[in-house]
Amino acid sequence: MLSTGLGHLRVAGRTMLNAVLPPLCLGCGEIVETPGGLCAACWPGFSFIAPPYCARCAHPFVHAIGAEALCGACAMRPPRYRRARAALVYDERSRKLVLPFKHGDRTDIARACGGWMARAGAELLADADLVAPIPLHWRRLFMRRYNQAQLLARITVAAAPSTRARLVPDLLRRRRWTGSQTGLAGKQRHDNVRQAFDVHPRWAALLAGKSVLLVDDVFTTGATAEACVRVLQRGGARHVDVLTLARVVRPAV
Ligand SMILES: [Zn+2]
Ligand SMILES: [Zn+2]
Repeated sequence: MLSTGLGHLRVAGRTMLNAVLPPLCLGCGEIVETPGGLCAACWPGFSFIAPPYCARCAHPFVHAIGAEALCGACAMRPPRYRRARAALVYDERSRKLVLPFKHGDRTDIARACGGWMARAGAELLADADLVAPIPLHWRRLFMRRYNQAQLLARITVAAAPSTRARLVPDLLRRRRWTGSQTGLAGKQRHDNVRQAFDVHPRWAALLAGKSVLLVDDVFTTGATAEACVRVLQRGGARHVDVLTLARVVRPAV
């Protein structure tokens, strides 16, 4: 009883603080009008990804060349996923945004990111039957209080009230320790994660014929996403899309 009472007090205290303290810009900490926002000075510094882009991986194009156009990489080697979308280019600015809430104490940032992801992935969310986070993989679980991808999946679904998709946090499991991906080249990364995931037996029957939306924080080479997509397709998924908060965008060659 006592702990429940204290919990209530703590929640009430936080609500009061939220009402009293002015909302702060997520970029620089200046006061802004709405919580989870960016000030006018910071807004242009964030690279939000918007069309025109590759129909499959959303790699930004300089010029519009048709809604179905593919980037060179996707044309040469079509990805297993149907579509990948991200809210932001992964750069100096968005990295600073992603890092603080990796540690779970900036829920205002998480809420804003959920809104941006819901917008970037609106088409994907509209088509999805199931939404699932990519399980913690090469990152060190013991250094984390939670799976960031799971938090992002939850707040993205919450920010998209019209979606009929069901959030299934444990659809995929990480089967084995894959070690650090850092310092590995593309091919090695693929080999490293290939056997790393499986579908939780609890959801095996549910998966057949479903459209799945995978959620993660950052899309780097796509090796982890591809490994998860392969497992889901083998499990009978009809389509798999991928939505991340940020993605690495390599300069066009
Ligand atoms: Zn600012
Ligand atoms: Zn592409």
